[in-house]
Amino acid sequence: MGMAKDRLDVIASADPELAAIMARELERQEHTLELIPSENIASPAVLAAVGSWLTNKYAEGTPGKRYYGGCEFVDQVERLCQERAEKLFGADHANVQPHCGSSANLAAYMALCKPGDTILGMDLSHGGHLTHGSPVSFSGIFYHAEFYGVSPETEQLDYDLVRQRAREVRPTMLVAGASAYPRVFDFAALADIAHEVGARLLVDMAHFAGLVAGGAHPNPVPFADVVTLTTHKTLRGPWGGMVLCRDEHTKAVDKSVFPGAQGGPLLHAIAGKAVALKAWGDPEMADYAQRVVANAGRLAEGLMAEDLRLVSGGTDNHLMLIDLRPLGLTGRQVQEAFDRAGITVNRNSIPFDEASKFNPSGIRLGTPAVTTRGMGGAEMDEIAHLVALLIHNLGDEKVSAEVSRRARALCEAHPLPYG
Ligand SMILES: *Cc1c(COP(=O)(O)O)cnc(C)c1O
Repeated sequence: MGMAKDRLDVIASADPELAAIMARELERQEHTLELIPSENIASPAVLAAVGSWLTNKYAEGTPGKRYYGGCEFVDQVERLCQERAEKLFGADHANVQPHCGSSANLAAYMALCKPGDTILGMDLSHGGHLTHGSPVSFSGIFYHAEFYGVSPETEQLDYDLVRQRAREVRPTMLVAGASAYPRVFDFAALADIAHEVGARLLVDMAHFAGLVAGGAHPNPVPFADVVTLTTHKTLRGPWGGMVLCRDEHTKAVDKSVFPGAQGGPLLHAIAGKAVALKAWGDPEMADYAQRVVANAGRLAEGLMAEDLRLVSGGTDNHLMLIDLRPLGLTGRQVQEAFDRAGITVNRNSIPFDEASKFNPSGIRLGTPAVTTRGMGGAEMDEIAHLVALLIHNLGDEKVSAEVSRRARALCEAHPLPYG
């Protein structure tokens, strides 16, 4: 592989031990079917920007208002990235410095709430994220967290139930967005609920930012006070986070990112974010976002046709959850069987799961990475079949070997873009 090989050679000349491990990870990525919905494959240009000399620069502050000298060019880098984000999502302001989605959320919380305030977020086992009020996260440690969840009948959000919870707990901030919710959100309804109870609305679009960028998911920006996202999931950028907000929150958001939540920005990562955002100006990327959703729909249909139950009966975004309870299986054993067969998935809690978080009853699958590799409908049918074969024949070594061979063939026909 050209680009990857060149980089490994450079690393190997300084550190052969590390280069050998990284070569094995590259080989793993090349030959395994990546179905974790929060993962993706960054472009060579993104990798090159992240692996650049911009890592050498300290630039605490914001463009034009730094605490260090020599910032004239990194100011331009950061401004370029901000302008692209603001234009792409239609936001008044973008802060592109957060190191990850969690620190973007920390900054958003600090901008909109005081410690001890009540927040209302989506229950973790119903699809929410740790940073939406879990007792092990800053969000549940420093804030008073209350939760809403999906309806037991539909396993989808019922906005009347969310409204009822909001009236009960009167939160300072309503948090929406999820890591494991296979449906689109009604942002107008959420904004209306927040408005009724006098709450601020934070939408965390970490998972579906790329779908929004490509027009395959509604955009929360017109409805929310603040929107946070990650840049490494569907958005196909480098590891990182971002905060978008209305003008009225710009000062509070910037102050909360630095010095509130972080020190100096990672200019190399910001350069990578800029490259990724530029790509979304290309009609090919809108097509990518549509294909991610179409592929997820097709994969979901295929799985249900093979007698697998999906939470909420399907998907309308990039991910889906298989309920393993009817099969008497647990998430951990299935995830491990998939690992042995060269397919990467992750175990996940599902709504009303009685099992432990460590060994929950669901498996979460998504299509962003396989779609980046160029897979389409025919490949989704094959993947659905392989997933079903493996789950229905857990522990059968012959089946596992067969699935492994066919998963590898799919990967070989759709190589990583690093050659
Ligand atoms: C992934 C995710 C995050 C956090 O992202 P990190 O970069 O891992 O900190 C936050 N919120 C949601 C909904 C996510 O899915």
